[in-house]
Amino acid sequence: MDNLKIAVIGAGVVGLTTAVELQKHFRNAYINVVANRFEKDTTSFVAAGLFRPGTSFSGPTQDITRKWINNAYNYWTDIEKTAEAAKAGVTYVSGYLYSSEYPSIVRNHYIEKLVPIYRPATEEELTLCPGNWKYGSFFTTILTQCSLYLPWVAQNFVNAGGKILEQQIISLLSVGQEYNVVVNCTGLGAQSLCNDHKLVPIRGQVIKVEAPWIKTFFYGDYDTYIIPGFDSVTLGGCRQYDSYNTNIDKYDGYSIKERCESLVPSLKNAKIVAQRVGLRPHRDPVRVEKEIINAEGRKAKSCS
Ligand SMILES: Cc1cc2nc3c(=O)[nH]c(=O)nc-3n(C[C@H](O)[C@H](O)[C@H](O)COP(=O)(O)OP(=O)(O)OC[C@H]3O[C@@H](n4cnc5c(N)ncnc54)[C@H](O)[C@@H]3O)c2cc1C
Repeated sequence: MDNLKIAVIGAGVVGLTTAVELQKHFRNAYINVVANRFEKDTTSFVAAGLFRPGTSFSGPTQDITRKWINNAYNYWTDIEKTAEAAKAGVTYVSGYLYSSEYPSIVRNHYIEKLVPIYRPATEEELTLCPGNWKYGSFFTTILTQCSLYLPWVAQNFVNAGGKILEQQIISLLSVGQEYNVVVNCTGLGAQSLCNDHKLVPIRGQVIKVEAPWIKTFFYGDYDTYIIPGFDSVTLGGCRQYDSYNTNIDKYDGYSIKERCESLVPSLKNAKIVAQRVGLRPHRDPVRVEKEIINAEGRKAKSCS
């Protein structure tokens, strides 16, 4: 039998990670990553990369969702344990999650028992940042900085025999004519590719600043966050449902700066190095399914 030919469509964090995992399981397969945008042009590049799934995140069942989250966490912590961790942009980071109004906001049923530390903040810790913080948690979790991770994982993929092709895919059927298996990791791109109206963007904007003295992350109310990375600190943010605006909005920028500086006043001295916008792919439930597509008489498996 001929060797299996697999196409992974998408070169964001999901596509490239899927491609290297497939290489481990199908050693004799030809695996290509096909995408029209790479590295700094992906949504993945915009993210601070903190491992903290939203509490409303859901797959088809609670058990499956939990399994996905646990597997993903183990994937990142396995990298963190290696000498490659810094090159891959993977590290542990600790910090505080505050709310002045809602105790539920500072809890996270998905990761409370998964990460090494997740505990209520003490009375003293609630006064570390200005603000009338009533509820708080302190936790340690993993961070993946995609400006480092994407080139690192792409190089590993190529070193193991994979090929990366630049191409805009118009239909999964046409890809299915060339490959036995098509793995669709196109994020928001799947909206048009699969005619999937359940996929919606949640627009986010962030400011990257130079503030090497910030070693701890802080979350306040209303999508305010400060997350230290390897070479900059990410200030956020916003979550604008169904917005397709990929331009930097100056009013969002003012609001982010003001909210973050009131949470951590030393940020007033931080130099802005970049502002970025990304459209988070949002779908309820998240789709990871296989289906058989009939590519002009040939059957191909497609996974989305
Ligand atoms: C401001 C902001 C902050 C965030 N912070 C975090 C965080 O702290 N932690 C966290 O876990 N997540 C965070 N996220 C979410 C995270 O960035 C996304 O969930 C993640 O990047 C999605 O990865 P992806 O690989 O699915 O998509 P993408 O990175 O968008 O990659 C999609 C790939 O598919 C390709 N593609 C799409 N359509 C086609 C087509 N038709 N033909 C060919 N190629 C195609 C694209 O070119 C691209 O290569 C944040 C997002 C934003 C915007």
